[in-house]
Amino acid sequence: MTTDRTALFLEGLRAWFAQNHRPLPWKGEKDPYLIWLSEIILQQTRVEQGMPYFERFRERFPEVQALADAEEDEVMKLWEGLGYYSRARNLHAAAQHIAYELEGRFPTRYEDILALKGVGPYTAAAIASFAYDLPTAVVDGNVYRILARFWGMDTPIDTAAGKKAFAQLAQRLIEAAPARPSQHNQAMMDFGAVHCKPKAPLCGQCPLQEHCVAFQQQRVDTLPVKQKKLVKKRRYFHYLLLNQGHHVYIRKRVGKDIWRNLYEFPLLEAGRVKLSPAELKQHEFWKALTDGRPAEIEQVSPPRQQTLTHQYIQAVFWEIRIPEQAAAPDLEGLLRVERKNLSKFAFPKIIDWYLKDNSLYLNLV
Ligand code: SF4
Repeated sequence: MTTDRTALFLEGLRAWFAQNHRPLPWKGEKDPYLIWLSEIILQQTRVEQGMPYFERFRERFPEVQALADAEEDEVMKLWEGLGYYSRARNLHAAAQHIAYELEGRFPTRYEDILALKGVGPYTAAAIASFAYDLPTAVVDGNVYRILARFWGMDTPIDTAAGKKAFAQLAQRLIEAAPARPSQHNQAMMDFGAVHCKPKAPLCGQCPLQEHCVAFQQQRVDTLPVKQKKLVKKRRYFHYLLLNQGHHVYIRKRVGKDIWRNLYEFPLLEAGRVKLSPAELKQHEFWKALTDGRPAEIEQVSPPRQQTLTHQYIQAVFWEIRIPEQAAAPDLEGLLRVERKNLSKFAFPKIIDWYLKDNSLYLNLV
């Protein structure tokens, strides 16, 4: 049943959307493959940052078969700089599943879309509503914020009870909305992204203001509520750039950790960012890497930091030279690469910054 509050909310949202919707390249798109691509790229990513990636992917892989047939290294390279690299690996794996096991047909039911690798309830709801106009409500940070503020809901959004209550309310709204499901979901996303923003929401010009509990009770800054505070882990990476003539050594990250399948220089993870050359040389990793070969430390970079959702990474880069005639270090998975070819590999952002600052990509001597 549509309550007065629900009707007021839906009417205010409709009026706002009619005036303010954002023109984006994938708006109005009905191809589920392209919708899926845009949604995966936009997870945890600002629209301005994601847009060029979407354009690049759409151009290189206009349909799911092209993405499925691509080498994983190429997909990772195209994704480079966007972060959360598991998205790229899952995208590729799901494209192969659709192309090779579902005969290229994108699933049409919410449950089957949800079963794709890397697709959670939010993305499945977005695809189902945008591609097929199914009444499946999207629930993400934007939606939590809008609902918590308008209804004055202070159940923490990171608890099972909170998730359930918000999801139920969001679902009731989409089912009651006179607008098509695709439009309703789009309106919620846009309203949260550009109007009822986390900081400095535009309450002064909000059509919902009169009935918004948070505004009326001056609780806009305290809603939504979260129970846990995220404690970020600090990690210290020492990258050893072994220079041998025109070559350096890199390897692919494997195992369950950040940046899996991206490339990096041999890495020593230590308990602190400051190490003296003498301390470095005492380390087992140094001994394993050089194994009696003459190796000279030429320079060490100042630390630089990359902030991830759950971690702070501080990295320093040691430039080390080994003689041209020395045998290659005996370390599993190590690749000997000409410096001028480094740009062909996908690296984490922190390495990319270092390489660009030091123009190693361009160093052809
Ligand atoms: S009045 Fe402010 S807090 Fe309430 S819905 Fe509008 S923008 Fe959000």
